[in-house]
Amino acid sequence: IAKRKATVFELYDPALDSSSKQTLSLLSELRYAVEHHELRLFLQPKIALDNGRVIAAEALVRWQHPVRGLVPPDAFIPFAEQTGFVRQLTLWMFDEAARQWAGLQQPGLPLRMSINLSTRDLLDLDFPARLDALLDKHQVAPEGFCLEITESAIMDDPLRAEGTLKRLSDRGFKLSIDDFGTGYSSLAYLKRLPVDELKIDKSFVMGMERDPDDAKIVRSTIDLAHNMGLSVVAEGVENAAVWNLLREQNCDEAQGYYMSRPLPVDGFKAWRQRWAER
Ligand code: C2E
Ligand code: CA
Ligand code: CA
Ligand code: CA
Repeated sequence: IAKRKATVFELYDPALDSSSKQTLSLLSELRYAVEHHELRLFLQPKIALDNGRVIAAEALVRWQHPVRGLVPPDAFIPFAEQTGFVRQLTLWMFDEAARQWAGLQQPGLPLRMSINLSTRDLLDLDFPARLDALLDKHQVAPEGFCLEITESAIMDDPLRAEGTLKRLSDRGFKLSIDDFGTGYSSLAYLKRLPVDELKIDKSFVMGMERDPDDAKIVRSTIDLAHNMGLSVVAEGVENAAVWNLLREQNCDEAQGYYMSRPLPVDGFKAWRQRWAER
């Protein structure tokens, strides 16, 4: 049995250079976590606002740490992005999502799974082929998946990102712009990308029933998305007031704690059953 190294990631200081001892130590902890099945795929539903159907689920990573308990992604994703380890993490998530995919389908109720990509994935020329291999392994089709990419990940190297996104879209993957409204991408540029969906950042959605400025931003983003022929999702829906506002404004899908927090796969399946019977 391999011996676990001391946990140091809470001490991680990004100001230190990447050859430092603490970086290597956290990196080996993350590698250990992948090899020893400590990562977990959680799911949060995306629901159609017009008929209340669960049409997709976003896969969100958690680290089930033997000492620290359930570690949220914000505690290790930024580090994984800096070191490049996030590429392995994305592939682990996609592998796991593709493995779970068939078990989440119901007759007449297809469920698309959304996966978060990082800027590193977009820069990796082999990335589309790696996804092909995993689709093959699990005998699933790219149309069953949506890939979420933040504006800032795209703007890191727009030309290269555009190339990767085109190749992913050509294969049949759905593409979504995540955290929309928080980045600096120009609309003229976004228009060129083969994107299917805009996801309005939760910072605008969470308080939109109280803050008229947020409400205006959400409303115009919905109109903008529809004018560009895109479907639009609001994340961070925390109460019925926001749900109702979004419905009135013809937003397509909603995601948030009001309906469900991210849950382990079994918990998600149980939640979906209760939701269908509500
Ligand atoms: P994100 O992609 O924007 O994911 C949405 C985050 O908002 C999730 O946090 C989710 O739990 C949270 N959220 C959903 N509904 C609500 C709500 O009603 N209210 C509030 N306050 N929050 C809500 P989570 O799971 O902690 O993930 C945080 C971020 O970590 C994600 O933001 C994403 O950027 C990153 N992340 C998570 N999983 C992965 C992954 O597998 N790969 C990559 N590259 N990044 C990931
Ligand atoms: Ca996301
Ligand atoms: Ca988001
Ligand atoms: Ca975010």
